[in-house]
Amino acid sequence: MKLKLTTKIFIGLFLGVVVGLMLQSNSSIAMTYIKPFGDLFINLIKMLIVPLVLSSLIVGASSIGDIKTLGKIGGKTLLYYLFTTAFAVSIGLLLGKLFNAGVGISMPVEVVAQEAKEAPSLISTLLNVVPKNPIKALVEGNMLQIITFALFLGIGATSLEESKSKAFISFFDSLANIMYQITGFIMSLAPFGVFALITPVVASNGIDILLPLIKVIGAVYIGCVIQIVIVYGFTIKAFSKMSPFTFLKGISEAMATGFSTSSSSGTLPVSIKCVTKNLGVSDKIASFVLPLGATINMGGTALYQGVCALFIAQVYGVDLTFSQMGTIIITATLGAIGTAGVPGGGLIMLSIVLSSVGLPLEGLTLIAGIDRILDMARTVVNITGDMAASVVVAKSENELKKVA
Ligand code: ASP
Repeated sequence: MKLKLTTKIFIGLFLGVVVGLMLQSNSSIAMTYIKPFGDLFINLIKMLIVPLVLSSLIVGASSIGDIKTLGKIGGKTLLYYLFTTAFAVSIGLLLGKLFNAGVGISMPVEVVAQEAKEAPSLISTLLNVVPKNPIKALVEGNMLQIITFALFLGIGATSLEESKSKAFISFFDSLANIMYQITGFIMSLAPFGVFALITPVVASNGIDILLPLIKVIGAVYIGCVIQIVIVYGFTIKAFSKMSPFTFLKGISEAMATGFSTSSSSGTLPVSIKCVTKNLGVSDKIASFVLPLGATINMGGTALYQGVCALFIAQVYGVDLTFSQMGTIIITATLGAIGTAGVPGGGLIMLSIVLSSVGLPLEGLTLIAGIDRILDMARTVVNITGDMAASVVVAKSENELKKVA
């Protein structure tokens, strides 16, 4: 019997959890012998990110054609990202309140008085999107800067007469296609990669570390399900008439990859493959909306920040006011733009959210131990949001074809 890749990935995931549980008392075995294979798998995927984002965005921007259409599609994409992310933080805050996870865990009072450290400003993140040296941005893998440069190249190329830009565009088109091809090869190793990634996470996060924070984990996981089913499911149904079930089935391979790699950027090649092959989104829209989303759209991360901010406030006995909650919503939504789509990116941004309302940064240490468990779920939400946006935008631009 020939199993589908998604099924094989889920088997890898399941076996990883089982073996991880068995190795709990001896987690060094998982760390020494199994984890390197997981790291190897992630490195293989990461190898594709910079050339893929550069080439697909150049092709995406140049195939959209004029600047007006590009602005229209970009505008719709950004609106979708901002609204759904703001929604996500609100769900997070609400669940944080309902679960009352921090009540009962108390921290020494003197920490409360401690001044929050100065947060890096959001303005500087936004100003930094223009690379002074694009080659440096490529070498360092600075995604926001690479996106800006690729968009300029794509726009520049289309505003030239065709004879002058044809060779340039077809080179990058070819490069993007080669990257998709390599993705296919690498993904055939995914069941093993996923197994090797999950086993050490389960083995080293024993029950002891999970129990006290089980409510936080529960709140984040439930929030993630709500965001996927209600927010993305509803918008998919309302704006593209696609059944949420078809949508989820079509993207399951990307979801499993996101869950095990905890990286939106790392999942990007798989996300592009899922929406174009399984859901009928045109290459043009997928190659524009998805690289952008993998970098700036983080609904799951924002949701997690809502839950954690409320949890930390409760632990330190701080009663957040309505306007402080508003500040958290704005900071987490905009902060998502500057969050790197890599494992742990959201934990760093959480410090900015905490500082924005003067909560003690020491609270981060409570979360750090379980962050990977939370990261797996929030990354699934992040990439689901990217793919939902691609379907909604494709439909509105008449770029969604029926898949048999
Ligand atoms: N790991 C997440 C992602 O790549 C970012 C985060 O840490 O929240 O989407």
